[in-house]
Amino acid sequence: MNVMVTGGAGYIGSHAVQRLLRDGHTVVCVDNLSRGHREPMDLLSDDRLTFAPGDLSDKSLLSRLLAGHEIDTIMHFAALTYVGESVQQPLAYYRNNTAGALNLLEAADAVGVERFVFSSTAATYGEPPPERIPIQEDCPQEPINPYGQSKLAVERILTDWASARRAAGRPVAFAALRYFNVAGCDRSGVLGEDHDPETHLIPVVLQACLGQREAVTMFGTDYPTPDGTCIRDYVHVEDLIDAHVHTMLALRPGDARRYNLGIGAGYSVRQIIDAVRAVTGVEFEVREGARRPGDPPSLFADPSRIRADLGWSAATRDVHEIVETAWKWFKAHPHGYAST
Ligand code: UDP
Repeated sequence: MNVMVTGGAGYIGSHAVQRLLRDGHTVVCVDNLSRGHREPMDLLSDDRLTFAPGDLSDKSLLSRLLAGHEIDTIMHFAALTYVGESVQQPLAYYRNNTAGALNLLEAADAVGVERFVFSSTAATYGEPPPERIPIQEDCPQEPINPYGQSKLAVERILTDWASARRAAGRPVAFAALRYFNVAGCDRSGVLGEDHDPETHLIPVVLQACLGQREAVTMFGTDYPTPDGTCIRDYVHVEDLIDAHVHTMLALRPGDARRYNLGIGAGYSVRQIIDAVRAVTGVEFEVREGARRPGDPPSLFADPSRIRADLGWSAATRDVHEIVETAWKWFKAHPHGYAST
């Protein structure tokens, strides 16, 4: 297939580019490099990969690329993804995440792209009540921050787009893939996770192991969970991309698919810290801190819908294995891609 990957120079998008190339697809990657890195594009360099530096606000660039490369599928990863930042800069989140997707979709609609795979998020569920955990796709979507709102708006735009096209007798297909906590790095050791600032738990703890942080702070130890810390569902990035490929191959005109991507089990912050200690053998200081605003106590997926429909489930279910893949990359790249 001819696939456009937006945000393909970022953490998750670059893993998608790698997998699509391995599977023999042709890839056009659009990325404005505001959060992504040039290095993965160089590392993945291939005759079947076109890297187009550019922004989703540049509709003429998007139209040219979509038509010129005869794109049949879009995997849309490009987005701003920090919850805290979204609270401080909501307009930037709606501009990038919602208006950016709308621009892309308008360009796609005009040239007749018929498959759209969208990176959505568990943040669209907001703070589900305990009886809704593990979360199924029909859980009410009531985001509690602009990040989740900006992604939910795109899900709604996609739904309306697909309905209108179905009614017009020109059906299209989309999938909204709702990610839980994506973690780990590719097993071949080429691609990694390089955020600035880094806020995600596993990389933060690994930075403490490398001596780059004085300590790790657990954000809240008084949650109503067995050990008092928050519980999340950590899914390996390569498994997550495998779900995208399964979805892309299954999409048929008229499909509107919505899937949770997680392993279906939760780990607490303390369990993650223990797993990192066990994998790395490094001791570091752990502090008990205040809760981080907007963090629900427990969020994990019921991923049975995608298993039933497409036969996908996460191959890596042990968080130690996920941490190992990340540790391998962090040790080799203590300063991210800049150390390459
Ligand atoms: N967390 C923590 N200390 C940190 C970073 C994260 O205790 O330095 C907690 C955070 O409060 C949440 C969990 O780890 O409960 C996962 O957070 P992360 O930012 O990795 O992902 P999120 O769940 O926000 O998408």
